[in-house]
Amino acid sequence: MEGFAVELDGVSKSYSNFEAVRDIKLKIRRGEFFSILGPSGSGKTTILRLIAGLLYPDKGSIRLMGEDVTFVPAYKRNVGMVFQDLALFPHLNVFENVAYGLKVRKTPEEEIKRKVKECLEIVNLDPEKFGKRKINQLSGGQQQRVAIARALAIEPSVLLLDEPLGSLDLKLRQHMMSELKRIQKTVKTTLVYVTHDQSEALIMSDRIAVINQGSLEQIGTPAEIYENPATKFVAEFIGEMNFIPAEVYNGGLISEIGYIKVSNLNGAKRVLVAIRPEKIKIGCRNLDNVYNAVVEEVAYVGGFLSVKARINDFCLKCLTSSDLRVEENQKVELGWRADDAIIFEA
Ligand code: ATP
Repeated sequence: MEGFAVELDGVSKSYSNFEAVRDIKLKIRRGEFFSILGPSGSGKTTILRLIAGLLYPDKGSIRLMGEDVTFVPAYKRNVGMVFQDLALFPHLNVFENVAYGLKVRKTPEEEIKRKVKECLEIVNLDPEKFGKRKINQLSGGQQQRVAIARALAIEPSVLLLDEPLGSLDLKLRQHMMSELKRIQKTVKTTLVYVTHDQSEALIMSDRIAVINQGSLEQIGTPAEIYENPATKFVAEFIGEMNFIPAEVYNGGLISEIGYIKVSNLNGAKRVLVAIRPEKIKIGCRNLDNVYNAVVEEVAYVGGFLSVKARINDFCLKCLTSSDLRVEENQKVELGWRADDAIIFEA
């Protein structure tokens, strides 16, 4: 269906006199896997609670499926929510947990049975085997599935997930990531996913909103955010980045490592040249910028070498194929294409 599932227009929210969220404008498309990514305390949960109706904004408006819900209470919004601690009912079994929202909505018994079965199957839990189990008789990953099934049971127009994988170990987290993506494709619900983990957001999302100190820094696809970070914060928060302070000189830049050729300067006098470790080529001369460097550190990271190299007194992180022979204290030439650097005002 065309249109937006969630629209926030100029939304701000303060706790006492601390502004946790400031002038947020975002539009989440129907059926989209949309992540809200930012460091701890940046306001992600506050945004999610505003969408859910568990908080009301001080300024701005919120629309769900095209309807203004700014001051509509949570129980009248058709949203499902999965919290970090899951908030499952320990005294109820799996079936009763998933049926909960339907009971509250006074859904007929037969339909509840059918719906619960369907939702447990969507999350890959056998209703026969797990239906009567108590929550404490389930593994962490199974509890996660119950929480998602419970949120799906009410057929929400938007499913909100607040760091739902935080408590799982790495392997299970990776498995649940692909499961979540599969589930979202099956039910075609709009999914808003809050996380501080950039790799989760990059892997799963159609688009990501990066939040810093209550403000929106950038909205884009994972590739856009990684390749073209709009701010220094986004460049630093997503992936690894080298930052070289430089000053404009003769249409190029002078810095501690020497002259740097760049493809576009935005008029600033002092800048930061940002270059990803994988864009720096070692032992390659046919580049716009080439420097003599000394290798300081080499670490093997599964198929790649993470290399720290020093140009004068300035250290750069490089990522290169492990086929390359480099050793500590080796003199190398390294460089990059002018187009591969991103320039920020210092
Ligand atoms: P985390 O990743 O740690 O969960 P977050 O990005 O979700 O963080 P929020 O929970 O939205 O951040 O909090 C944003 C800011 O608002 C934080 O500085 C937090 O301390 C503050 N805050 C949150 N809830 C309250 C509250 N009820 N009263 C006062 N301050 C609050």
